Amino acid sequence: MSDFADEASRVEEQQREDALALLRNRPRPIANLSSQCMDCEGPIERARLAAVPHCQRCIDCQRIHEGRRV
Ligand SMILES: [Zn+2]
Repeated sequence: MSDFADEASRVEEQQREDALALLRNRPRPIANLSSQCMDCEGPIERARLAAVPHCQRCIDCQRIHEGRRV
């Protein structure tokens, strides 16, 4: 019985390593790049991206940017 368990865990481990290798080789989704603030390089909130899909700044930097412009 323990032989089966050892074999199962060995196969399981191999499959997990294969899956991890695939994930590591996969390029990052482009969505991650566009959700980065161009000023502070911090993440832009999902809610903001949903409202303004092409925004390039997080809400804080956008406020500063607009404040300077006015
Ligand atoms: Zn920012």
